[in-house]
Amino acid sequence: MGIQKTRNAVQGVMALVLLYEGYQFYLFSRHFKTLGEAPFVPRPPAVEAFLPISALVSLKSWISLGIFDTVHPAGLVIFIAIMGTALFFQRPFCAWLCPVGLLAEGFWKAGKRALGKNPRMPKAADHALMAVKYLILFFFLWVILIKMPGEATFAFANAPYNKVVDVKMLDFWIEPSSAVIKATIVIVALSIVFKNFWCRYLCPYGALLGMLGRFAPLRVKRHESECIHCSLCTKNCPGFIDVENCDTVTSVDCIKCLTCIEKCPKPEALDIRAGKHIVKPLHLAALFLALFFLIIIIAKLTGHWHSSVAYEEYAVLIPQADFFSH
Ligand code: SF4
Ligand code: SF4
Repeated sequence: MGIQKTRNAVQGVMALVLLYEGYQFYLFSRHFKTLGEAPFVPRPPAVEAFLPISALVSLKSWISLGIFDTVHPAGLVIFIAIMGTALFFQRPFCAWLCPVGLLAEGFWKAGKRALGKNPRMPKAADHALMAVKYLILFFFLWVILIKMPGEATFAFANAPYNKVVDVKMLDFWIEPSSAVIKATIVIVALSIVFKNFWCRYLCPYGALLGMLGRFAPLRVKRHESECIHCSLCTKNCPGFIDVENCDTVTSVDCIKCLTCIEKCPKPEALDIRAGKHIVKPLHLAALFLALFFLIIIIAKLTGHWHSSVAYEEYAVLIPQADFFSH
């Protein structure tokens, strides 16, 4: 199987697992909302992956007070796994695991089939829009990591609102307001026309991974002596990186999708290196996945995965989840 087929298969499996976990969480929530009439289903901790703000608050609490979150520990573990892997590999999370990345790729590919090509955003608009995800990221980093006192982060993590924030998130998507529906339609339409619209312009998670990935030793390298300047790498890069004219790809937009390497007709022209050590493309993906899931396995084995919120507490909080706000 080629690199892109392998990548899409990994993305697909991950998306199916998350869909299954999401459905289990829906059943879990329904049990409490129907006051016990619907059957009980255990809460799948992996849904906490969709609570990055809560995870950032928990991270601050852990750093400043030394207390590892017990309300959404899986959310913090997944956050650490995503950030930790970025330090070594840049952003393969975006290309190999993120379900939003999979959706975004599906949208622009559908758009390409329907329209013949995905137009480029005009340069000025591209630069201006690129700032949006950094502004969102810096806002949250400033408010949570800088301004919020450690005690306040602990209080937030253990407040009723945070205990049911996952239920509120689910409700947000299964009973969307008209504003949410309109915003989603606009973003989907733009994602069909423009390549990776959400990831490139709006995702603060991707912005943070790109910044952490600046330190990553493993990089795509081009060898001028082998390159025939066919431009296939540049033309096919979803991050619009001019690979053909790079010696080493240092861009924060490289998501390690490895498309450039697969499309390159000269086997020696592009490779992945850390210093002088060459890593085969699929070995890089395997190393990334191994480290990511190793962190999760360690968390499970050391009791940092399941929430400490008791059944009785959920029975009180979930039926009144709509009334909690931060
Ligand atoms: S430089 Fe290569 S690996 Fe990086 S995003 Fe572009 S195509 Fe993917
Ligand atoms: S695809 Fe390979 S040969 Fe073609 S320009 Fe890129 S690095 Fe050079």
